[in-house]
Amino acid sequence: MFGWAGRFLGAAADRIWPRVCAVETCSRPSDRPGRYVCSECFAGLPFHGADGCCRICGTTIASKVHHEFVCEVCAKTPPPYEFARSAAVYDAPVDQLVNDFKFRRAVWLANDLADLLEGAVRAKLDFSAIDVIVPVPLSRERFRERGYNQSALLARALGLRLGRRVDERSFHRIRDTEHQSRLSGEERAKNLDGAFKTIDTRYIRGRTVLLVDDVMTSGNTFSFCAKALLEGGAARVWCASVARRLREG
Ligand SMILES: [Zn+2]
Ligand SMILES: [Zn+2]
Repeated sequence: MFGWAGRFLGAAADRIWPRVCAVETCSRPSDRPGRYVCSECFAGLPFHGADGCCRICGTTIASKVHHEFVCEVCAKTPPPYEFARSAAVYDAPVDQLVNDFKFRRAVWLANDLADLLEGAVRAKLDFSAIDVIVPVPLSRERFRERGYNQSALLARALGLRLGRRVDERSFHRIRDTEHQSRLSGEERAKNLDGAFKTIDTRYIRGRTVLLVDDVMTSGNTFSFCAKALLEGGAARVWCASVARRLREG
């Protein structure tokens, strides 16, 4: 009933307080309806893996590759998940947008970041086979501290767009492992082992689960989550992140 009034008021508000693009270095108004990143910035984001990537973990190599390959890491130790893909490289301005969203309460960026995630899932995975979407969970302590789980906000937006169930209840982080930046890579991996658990298998057993996170770094979090989901009966686990930190070297 108030649709026209809402649109009118929305348009009027945009004229009085034009929404400026969320990218720090841009001062253009955001011209994409309901979004905060302008179309020019969005088109210029550093998209990931357009030139071919590892068939399993999605990693790219610094060379022009147009064929499928399996990277050295996956060949040596195949990860428990079947595929992992990312939308963008964790580089400017994606790092700023993700950090605003995750640490500075800019939850209104959920739809902009879900645009990226949705594009990657549709283009890089057979999304019709996905049964359920599960966000990487936060520990209770971290959730209380932050007030929201950024990955759950992304999973919800993606679920609406793909028409899939989003399950935020069946899969938990049972140990707080998030304050571990001082640990070495190996210690960090050890710390993550056993940190996740499928506590309700009803919507997980026999399903193709899409695990969603904001940033993928080493892939350890995805691996340990996938392991716990498979232990909970998942048929297969696929992973998708908005951004990916490229391996050093
Ligand atoms: Zn912009
Ligand atoms: Zn790989």
